[in-house]
Amino acid sequence: MTVHLQSGASFGPDFPFDFDRWLRHPAGLGEMPPERHGEEVAVIGAGMAGIVAAFELMRLGLKPVVYEAGHLGGRLRSQRFEGTEDIVAELGGMRFPRSSSTFFSYVDALGLPTRPFPNPLTPAAGSTVIELEGEAFYARTLADLPPLFSEVASAYEEALEEAFSFAAMRRAIRARDAEAVRALWEPLVRLWDERTFYDFVTTSDAFQRLSFRHREVFGQVGFGTGGWDADFPNSMLEILRVNALEFDADQHLIVGGAAKVPHGLWRKCPDRIAHWPAGTSLATLHAGAPRPGVSALKRLPDGRIEVTDRWGRVEPFKAVIATCQSWLLTTSIRTDESLFSHKLWMAMDRTRYMPASKTFIMVDRPFWRDKDPLTGRDAMSMTLTDRLTRGTYLVDNGEGRPGVICLAYSWMSDAQKMLPLSVDQRVDLALAALRQIYPTLDIASHIIGDPITVSWEADPNFLGAFKGAMPGHYRYNHRMYSHFMQKDMPLSERGLFIAGDDVSWTPGWAEGAVQTALNAVWGVMAHLGGHSHAANPGPGDRWEELKPVELGD
Ligand SMILES: Cc1cc2nc3c(=O)[nH]c(=O)nc-3n(C[C@H](O)[C@H](O)[C@H](O)COP(=O)(O)OP(=O)(O)OC[C@H]3O[C@@H](n4cnc5c(N)ncnc54)[C@H](O)[C@@H]3O)c2cc1C
Repeated sequence: MTVHLQSGASFGPDFPFDFDRWLRHPAGLGEMPPERHGEEVAVIGAGMAGIVAAFELMRLGLKPVVYEAGHLGGRLRSQRFEGTEDIVAELGGMRFPRSSSTFFSYVDALGLPTRPFPNPLTPAAGSTVIELEGEAFYARTLADLPPLFSEVASAYEEALEEAFSFAAMRRAIRARDAEAVRALWEPLVRLWDERTFYDFVTTSDAFQRLSFRHREVFGQVGFGTGGWDADFPNSMLEILRVNALEFDADQHLIVGGAAKVPHGLWRKCPDRIAHWPAGTSLATLHAGAPRPGVSALKRLPDGRIEVTDRWGRVEPFKAVIATCQSWLLTTSIRTDESLFSHKLWMAMDRTRYMPASKTFIMVDRPFWRDKDPLTGRDAMSMTLTDRLTRGTYLVDNGEGRPGVICLAYSWMSDAQKMLPLSVDQRVDLALAALRQIYPTLDIASHIIGDPITVSWEADPNFLGAFKGAMPGHYRYNHRMYSHFMQKDMPLSERGLFIAGDDVSWTPGWAEGAVQTALNAVWGVMAHLGGHSHAANPGPGDRWEELKPVELGD
């Protein structure tokens, strides 16, 4: 099992609060007044954010009531191939940077084994093939590739340094030096919120010295995890957070599937728990399964919030945490408009989700490790290409066990190409593309079981894979992220807390879902009269000191 050393940490840069240390502090997250013990709090959504929020509310002695419209685990969805025990397709989150320190606090607490994810040019992948414009390059490391690729990699590093004092920022984040992080980050927010990733790349001195082809290759191959041109229209701040927090490096998969994290927390009986007897878990509090999806949210005259589920069961709560994608509060949950300010509605409705699709096959064995007798190369490699498969990832579950190939993982327009197609059509197209790269390899002859595919934008419980903030969206992010600080809000807007991937500053990364869930837990605790321990102040206690820069309207 991997030991997760303290390397990078997900510390800021917008709100440099030590979430993982707050979580692991021996004093615990806080305390509720005894008369609140057992008080029910609704949690909408059983994804990572909802489950973390429910788990921590339970540890505080409250009674979370979790509602889920689809799968427990949400976008951590590990779909088992038919007929197997533990061979899975990771339809959502699949690679978790070790700097996701709060997320890994839960992974470690559950004792889940992890191993390095087979990303391009990493030892875990073994070998990588990069095929662009019909030309294929076989490599184990960057050094094996033609100079063009190292020029691109160096240009990106140079551009980051030139624009952002990048090394200093990484040092400050690693040292968890809140003052230094804020000093470096604040001016960047003003400078870069309204500029795109593409603008950054094209206007940097480092890339200006190079050709269009270099920029194009950067878009196809990107840094760390594969192509990033799908993100070119996004706000540069969003990309910069990924780099600064080291989310693009040292990524691990969860053995047996990422869904083991939310599922494990659902069944885990915490060692330390207020009010509830030993042996209590979210599963025991819920008679085994979450309640059905929520269909309506309404403010009652006595101030409580009434939650209606899809079968018409109605129950009032003093506090509710909503973790579903925020568009769903407009499209599938009849939500009283007065529950949020118009400015918050504006922010939630302007949130932009990126489409993403993945298609998987299960194969009889990790045949890609076979050596070509002529070249000595692997029969097949982790593959990055400009063809419609974009990224093909090979997951080796050990000799003698089926392997899994993520034939295609794509975003934005490449994902939209897949949207109307059946799973078989997607597999056919992907195999045809890969045949161009590996003309003598018969991948199809290794397929066992049924393929699995997903288009997150086609699922009514999601409407998209994850937020991708556009230029000018910092203010919207700010409104949503700050919403757990409710003491100055009108009473009519208090008690409903939003959390999850799209509330965070780092959409597309489970760490953000976890951190915003902890913010919401602090918010509920304060709302119901509880408090953090003096020795272990929470995110709301340190808000004034650390809060994200305000740009004003
Ligand atoms: C394709 C893809 C790849 C990703 N890759 C990575 C990665 O490699 N690394 C990483 O760290 N992160 C990754 N992520 C992001 C990560 O999966 C998310 O950050 C995290 O899972 C989000 O958790 P959440 O609880 O915020 O939201 P969700 O998981 O979306 O949970 C919200 C839940 O609300 C439910 N819901 C919806 N409507 C209702 C309703 N009316 N009533 C009740 N419940 C409702 C939904 O069914 C869902 O289960 C990826 C995501 C996707 C989609």
